[in-house]
Amino acid sequence: MLAVFISLAVIGCGHFAPEGVNDKLYAKTNIVNLMVWGLWWPSMVWLAVLFGRVWCMVCPLELVANGTERVARRLGVKQLVLGKWLRSGALIVGIYALIQLLVAGAHLHRVPAYTSLFLWGLLGTAGLVGFFIKDRAFCRGFCPVGLLLSTYGRGGMLAVRAGSGRICNTCTGKDCIMACNRTKLSGRSCPSLLNPPKLNSNRDCLVCGQCIKACKPDNMQLILRRPFHPSDVREPAASWPVTIFVIIVSGFVTGELCSEWKTAQSVFLWLPDHFTEYFSLSSVGGWIEGVWMIGIYPLLLWFVLGILAAFNSDNAFVVIRSWRFLALPLAVIVSSGHMAKGLAKFTSWIGFFPHALKDPMGIMTASGISSKAIQQPVPLLSISVVSLIGMALVITGIYFSIREARLANPETYHQRLAPKLVLVVLFAFIIFGWGYIK
Ligand code: SF4
Ligand code: SF4
Ligand code: SF4
Repeated sequence: MLAVFISLAVIGCGHFAPEGVNDKLYAKTNIVNLMVWGLWWPSMVWLAVLFGRVWCMVCPLELVANGTERVARRLGVKQLVLGKWLRSGALIVGIYALIQLLVAGAHLHRVPAYTSLFLWGLLGTAGLVGFFIKDRAFCRGFCPVGLLLSTYGRGGMLAVRAGSGRICNTCTGKDCIMACNRTKLSGRSCPSLLNPPKLNSNRDCLVCGQCIKACKPDNMQLILRRPFHPSDVREPAASWPVTIFVIIVSGFVTGELCSEWKTAQSVFLWLPDHFTEYFSLSSVGGWIEGVWMIGIYPLLLWFVLGILAAFNSDNAFVVIRSWRFLALPLAVIVSSGHMAKGLAKFTSWIGFFPHALKDPMGIMTASGISSKAIQQPVPLLSISVVSLIGMALVITGIYFSIREARLANPETYHQRLAPKLVLVVLFAFIIFGWGYIK
């Protein structure tokens, strides 16, 4: 994976869409954009929801950070401990929002040169953080997709758990926890500083398998279970960084869903587009759309959802506090909408992959398609089929969302049903529009 990562970063270096070629088309024909934004990103969303943090198993950034952490130790560098606010994910929310802004404003996802800078930036940051801060600090406090994976992946079917509690209680070695094992090459005690025998959530476990290798009584297991397993612990209220992340991503996902249906897109972007036109700000129109999508619109949406959740209260603080109770159950619906968009994107971009293998820079392919010398690849699935699957996903999402809310707050969950229904109807309507409303 590290080799693929570096190859993409090298190939994309300094490449922009050629003159006369639409950058939207070029994004699909250039192998860097195609693989990072068209194939890997949607796949990661699907994998996270279905299998938890399975991407972390093979992530090259963890490898780089681990490598520099070892080098720093060898060199006798006095490494820092990750601070509490970084551990909370506060910086990750900011990085995630910045990436979405760069996508909207600078078209990060359409320009190979920017994608390359992004990849080099990730590699460099992982290396530096690993060097100066110990104990998997990059994953725990800096990784831009860390919160996405930990929030979407909670109900994932793949999990690392201890088998028998009795074996752990009588275990004298405790190799999965002992600090002296932390620097081993293989069979380390948990590098994320978790307590493997007590693991009861997918939230922070990177499925790295170190505790499984470390456990001499062979009691740690990698298991495949049904989704949203009831034995996992549920937090009654999400932390503020997670809540803000879900708010931001709900806006992003609404915008992305609307982008598949022209009418919905023009309604969604009516306000920012008119603002841009009225003040003649077309040169920064993309940035304004970005601020609308991940800032203003989600705040308006969550204000309405909060009022619905706390309808018998006229106190604004109660409305805002209700966001923390809504965040994790609503994240299930948001992630199902994200999967629907991911499917639409993946199936319409994957046809470009054979062309990208023959012409990695994508210039000839893009020019050929523009001049109609090459036929544009057809999507793998028709939009009406994708629309049906998308609706099935969000309907499944509302079921699990209500179930999650009930397991987290059995006494009060029924008071917050309305926001879930509003969000699912909104998403289902937009997805229905993709295939069935012209
Ligand atoms: S948390 Fe981020 S950097 Fe760490 S393994 Fe997972 S995806 Fe990679
Ligand atoms: S997981 Fe294994 S090593 Fe850790 S306490 Fe249990 S039996 Fe011991
Ligand atoms: S060592 Fe075990 S508990 Fe810790 S992150 Fe890896 S798989 Fe998860």
